[in-house]
Amino acid sequence: MPAPPEVICLTNGVFAENCYIVADRDRGEAVLVDPGEEADLFLARLRSERLELQGIWLTHAHLDHVLGVRPVVERSGVPVWLHPDDRPLYDRMPDQAAAVLGVDLPAPPPPDRTLAAGDLVRVGDCEFEVRHVPGHSPGSVAFVGHGVTISGDVLFAGSVGRIDLPGGDGEALLHSIREQLLTLPDDTVVYSGHGPATTIGQERRTNPFLTGAYRLS
Ligand SMILES: [Zn+2]
Ligand SMILES: [Zn+2]
Repeated sequence: MPAPPEVICLTNGVFAENCYIVADRDRGEAVLVDPGEEADLFLARLRSERLELQGIWLTHAHLDHVLGVRPVVERSGVPVWLHPDDRPLYDRMPDQAAAVLGVDLPAPPPPDRTLAAGDLVRVGDCEFEVRHVPGHSPGSVAFVGHGVTISGDVLFAGSVGRIDLPGGDGEALLHSIREQLLTLPDDTVVYSGHGPATTIGQERRTNPFLTGAYRLS
């Protein structure tokens, strides 16, 4: 049995986005999940941890999760994984940057690999299952394995993802959470795209959007 992967959270940028380093320490290999604004921070941390970057896994293609893709790829040459249903969003990244930040940015390089439900992705000897969790965006995915899920902006501690952005769908979001995330064991640690980590059990018991206390609208 390989040792479980290590997950390092790097909260960064004006969006307070959580980029994650997922590492197989024994092999000294890592991937970056959702490299947001501060590419220098991610690359410096990989260096100081003596981890070799193998790829970029994207939970979805909103601006705050992909701002660092181009600078990281330019400096490391690693491949990028994305679900095809978020490809239109990904390709509109310069429009997202202009609209949200008022800046001109070049498009990120095209993704090299596609993610699909049921795929297994690997960092070192550690495998994660890909689950398709649309609703916050059409191509949102969660990476599941080793007692954790890294699930982007789908489920947060005490909240759920926005559905008012292009491609958002509240019914789909709740369906994704119930079918793909709440089916995981209660002690599964949820690493979200923003805010602190939580667990499936904690959210099942107390998340007001899941207990029925609040309605998504
Ligand atoms: Zn998002
Ligand atoms: Zn986000």
